[in-house]
Amino acid sequence: MDRRQFLLRSSLLAAGAALPFKSLLANSRENFTTLRRNVGYFTERGGTIGWLASSNAMVVVDSQYPETAKNCLNGLRDKTDQPLNLLINTHHHGDHTGGNPTFKGVAKKIVAHENVPKLMKKANEESDGEGNTAYPETTYSESWKMDLGDETIHAKYYGPGHTGGDSVVYFEKANVVHMGDLVFNRMNPYTDRPSGASIQNWVKILSTVAEEYPADAIYIFGHAKPEYGVTGEKEDLGVMKDYLTAVLDHAQKGIDEGLSKDEITDKKSLEEFDHFLYADFWTLSDNLGVAYEELTQS
Ligand SMILES: [Zn+2]
Repeated sequence: MDRRQFLLRSSLLAAGAALPFKSLLANSRENFTTLRRNVGYFTERGGTIGWLASSNAMVVVDSQYPETAKNCLNGLRDKTDQPLNLLINTHHHGDHTGGNPTFKGVAKKIVAHENVPKLMKKANEESDGEGNTAYPETTYSESWKMDLGDETIHAKYYGPGHTGGDSVVYFEKANVVHMGDLVFNRMNPYTDRPSGASIQNWVKILSTVAEEYPADAIYIFGHAKPEYGVTGEKEDLGVMKDYLTAVLDHAQKGIDEGLSKDEITDKKSLEEFDHFLYADFWTLSDNLGVAYEELTQS
């Protein structure tokens, strides 16, 4: 094939390839929502990705899965020609770090709480598959902060909650807070006790965060019942806190009455929270079991 034929053929190939690619891009654009000051969120599959895409910075918070991470990155490249400065993982779970390999080598830094790479390694050891080895290499123990363009990004650890390594990520100028999985908006949350979760401290975290950030902060949530959505305000943190408190109260009441663990955990929904989504993969009984174990130190 001569050079002219080669060019012709590759341009045809490119034109053909552009068609499905274009529709993919169109789909992924629908998954982008801007919140404030070039900060927004991306939903496709897995935990909500937070992003900053301005004329002087590109940042993503969480990475979903390899394919959706690619869609997210492509969509962000339409918004800014800046390189990806930063990927922050709010915690180690696969639906928040599964796309790390897509961002690895593209992102200048991958940041997380110091327990996140440890918990990812532990998960790899326990699974049969290849595992995700795109670990965050920039870690912190209490708090971390970076100035980037005209934004300042903070990550802070408030102790064990949904796991033993949850960060709250704050875009200070935009006044947007990514809660990771510390909020499942109107949903019975997954509680990962083998990874160090604590429902009791989780309740404290939600009170502290609600007080610490400005009253008009916009919050991004890892997951949500669809009708309620993956963003909200301070009051929504209060609802999650009240739910977790009710879970602890129900377990404590049963313990005080001398009921068995099976009797205490035999419950499908909480009366005052019957509008919550109770998914099958992790039930209220599972959370009552965690609460029972915490309260009895078993
Ligand atoms: Zn999670």
